Amino acid sequence: MSGIGKVSRPADTARALLAAGYERLGWPLYRGVPACACTSRPRNCANPGGRLVGGRQQPVPARALGDHLSRHPDDALLTVCGGRFDTVTLPRDVGSALLVQLDRQGDAFPALWSGDRELTLLVRAGSTVALGELLSERARAVLRLSSTRTTLPLPPTHGMAWDTPPWDPATGTPRPLPSAGALLLPLRSTVRLYARG
Ligand SMILES: [Zn+2]
Repeated sequence: MSGIGKVSRPADTARALLAAGYERLGWPLYRGVPACACTSRPRNCANPGGRLVGGRQQPVPARALGDHLSRHPDDALLTVCGGRFDTVTLPRDVGSALLVQLDRQGDAFPALWSGDRELTLLVRAGSTVALGELLSERARAVLRLSSTRTTLPLPPTHGMAWDTPPWDPATGTPRPLPSAGALLLPLRSTVRLYARG
């Protein structure tokens, strides 16, 4: 190769590394468009995330996605729930309180902030069905459980940030996904305290 190739910038490298990391976890990856065009700091974004372009898509290899995102840094990167994991999504206050409680218990669920509005916890695929049946109506009104069709925008998508990434940042080793059932008791007490209706 001669020296005329584009020199990749650190931001490009970070995008490519994230996409490669998701691919190593076996997550299907898709290209999307951003949900907003704001220039505010992502944590303040009123409409973080993104959506798939068009209808059904074939998953895109990580390398192609990394290339695409370096040319179109505002585009979104998404995956689909159900195959590799389910999700539990909570409003900010309940999510923050739950993280504190899980931390005290020594549990580390992969967790993703959507702006500063919502927190999404990743749990073992298929495990939210039983959780949904065990939670009170009030708790179910506060949270959102993924279905197999739920698309999830991932960092580096605008406004999306890992609180706890799905791998160990030091070694890159995938974090085991706990069952959603492990959230039952902490969710019950957190919802009781923070989601007064
Ligand atoms: Zn925005």
